[in-house]
Amino acid sequence: MTAREDAKVLVVAALTERTPGERRVALVPEVVERLVTQGFEVLVESGAGAGALISDDAYVQAGAKVSGLEDVLDRADVVLAVRRPTPAVLPKLRAGQVLIGLLDARMAGPERAELDEAAARGVILLSLDLLPRTLPRAQTMDALSSQASVAGYRAAVVAAEAFGRYFPMMITAAGTARPAKVLVLGAGVAGLQAIGTARRLGAQVTGYDVRPAAEGEVKSLGATFLKTATTVAAGDGGGGYARALTPAEGAAQRAELDAAIRRFDVVITTAQVPGGTPPVLVTAETIEAMSAGSVLVDLASGPLGGNVAGSVPGERVVTRGGVTVIGAGNLPAQMASGASAAYSRNVTAMLTAVVVDGAILLDPADDIVAAVWIHPAVPAEGTTHDE
Ligand code: NAD
Repeated sequence: MTAREDAKVLVVAALTERTPGERRVALVPEVVERLVTQGFEVLVESGAGAGALISDDAYVQAGAKVSGLEDVLDRADVVLAVRRPTPAVLPKLRAGQVLIGLLDARMAGPERAELDEAAARGVILLSLDLLPRTLPRAQTMDALSSQASVAGYRAAVVAAEAFGRYFPMMITAAGTARPAKVLVLGAGVAGLQAIGTARRLGAQVTGYDVRPAAEGEVKSLGATFLKTATTVAAGDGGGGYARALTPAEGAAQRAELDAAIRRFDVVITTAQVPGGTPPVLVTAETIEAMSAGSVLVDLASGPLGGNVAGSVPGERVVTRGGVTVIGAGNLPAQMASGASAAYSRNVTAMLTAVVVDGAILLDPADDIVAAVWIHPAVPAEGTTHDE
C-alpha cells in the first residue's frame, strides 16, 4: 500500500491545455481553495493558467502544488481538463486514473479512436459533453451550457465590433442613427445569450429556431420571433434538441430564410444538431444579396462545416460585396478567464459527484455516471478508486 492510499487523500490535477488556440484552464484558484478545504490534494501543471492570466503563484497561494507534466501525471488520481488531451498526452494516462473533461466523445474517426484506446487501457474517461443536461442534478456540471453561454455573449460582442455602425439608436447633434437589426438563427443556450447581449447593446433583435418551444424563450428576452412556415412545427427532435431536417425541409427553410436575412444588418448563427453536421442556413447567394457593411458571425463554424456557406473557423473574410463573414472558432477561449471560472465549477461538480468518503466511486446505475463514462464494457458493479 502506498503512502497516498494510507492517507486517503485524493490527488486532483489540472493540466495545461495543449490544443492550439485553447487558453482556458480546468481549475481556477478560487475552486482550488474549495477543493483543498474539502480535503483534496491539488496539483496544477506549471503554466496551466497562463492563457487565462493565472500565475503559478496564484495556484500556490490557493493551496495547490505546481509541478511539471510528468510529475503531475505520475501523482494524480484524477486529471481535470477542458479539452481532450492531445495525442502526445492522452497515452500517458494510466489504468485507474480518471480523466474528466469535454472530451468530444461524440466525434467519430481518429479522435474517438484515441478515447477508445485509452478506455481499453483502463483509463476512466468521463466526458462532460455526454451529460444528460436536462436532469436537474446535472445542471451544476453542465459545461456545454456554461461555455455556450460565453460563446453566445462573445458572438454578439464580436459582431458589434465588426459592424461599422452603432448597435443602439443614437440621437445626437450630428443626426440620428437607427438601431442595428440583428437576427440570431438558432435560439438554444448560445443563441439566447447572443439575443440578450445584442438587446443590451441596444440593437433591434429577432430570434429564430426550428423548435416551437424557442418562440416563448426568444420573446421573453424582448426580441421578435421569426417564423418560417416550413419548419417551426417540424424541428423538435426531443430532449430540447432539434432534429436534422430532411433535405427537402432544409431547402424550403433556406429559401424562406434567404428573403428574411437580407433585411438584417447582422446575423449570428448558432444552429447545431447533436453529433451531426451543422445545417447551412445562409447560402452564398444570400450573402451576395446582403448589403455592404452587413456582418455574419457563424458560431457553428467548425471542422464539419457551419451555418454560413464558406465560413472558416477563426477567420474573418470581407466579400467583394462588403459583407464580413466571421467563422467564430473557439469563442470561450477568447474570454478565457470568465469561461474557465464557470468551467472549473462545472468540472468539480462532476468530480465531487463521483467521490464518496475520499475515494472515486462510479456507480453505473447512476444516470449521470452511465451517460458520461466512456468505456468499452460496462462493469457489473461499482468500481472504486482503491480497486
Ligand atoms: P444546440 O447547440 O444543439 O443547438 C443550438 C440551437 O440550434 C438549438 O436551439 C436548435 O434547436 C437550433 N437548430 C438546430 N437546427 C436548426 C435549424 N435547421 N434551423 C434553426 N435552428 C436550428 O442546442 P443547445 O443550445 O445545446 O440546447 C438545446 C436545447 O437544450 C435548448 O432547448 C435548451 O433549453 C435545452 N437545454 C436544457 C437544459 C436544462 O434543462 N437544464 C440545459 C441545456 C440545454
